[in-house]
Amino acid sequence: MVVECDHVWREISNYVDDDVDPALRAAMEEHFKECKHCTAILDGARNLVQLYGDDRMFEVPLGYGQRLHRRLAGNIGKSRRTFIGWMVATAAGIFIAGSYELARSATSTRDNLRSELAHFSAPVPPDLMVVVADDGKVFHGAAACPFIHDKTKVKSLLAREAVQQGYTPCVRCMKQYV
Ligand SMILES: [Zn+2]
Ligand SMILES: [Zn+2]
Repeated sequence: MVVECDHVWREISNYVDDDVDPALRAAMEEHFKECKHCTAILDGARNLVQLYGDDRMFEVPLGYGQRLHRRLAGNIGKSRRTFIGWMVATAAGIFIAGSYELARSATSTRDNLRSELAHFSAPVPPDLMVVVADDGKVFHGAAACPFIHDKTKVKSLLAREAVQQGYTPCVRCMKQYV
């Protein structure tokens, strides 16, 4: 099996992730021995995978990716006139585009989580009348809450008392406090 450069670029992120079949892996290893262009791209891809694989990447502001891209483009810019530089720029561009997709989807999951967590800030008014059911350690704003399984065994008390007794606000009907 012999692979061409463009085939190597298509598979390079899979190669770095150890996700190519053994025959292709062997063919790519052969290719890297002969082809400095692809070896340079492989090094770049490994660096990118390290960067994007690093969990902290997702904690930094969104503009970071663009800055990284510019920095890469800047580095590549120095060797723009060489054929290798052009190759790396092209392949790195393709690779970065793919990685952005991954980073974006991971980031949006985290953003959703964060907006869920943002609800935790409002304290429950201590004198609010709430109800608790026998079958849980959750207090509710209304006995009609669908999360109360046995509506015959509810009792009313103050939110303050419920909290003292170890109850936590219901995620459904006490949403603004959760
Ligand atoms: Zn090549
Ligand atoms: Zn409830």
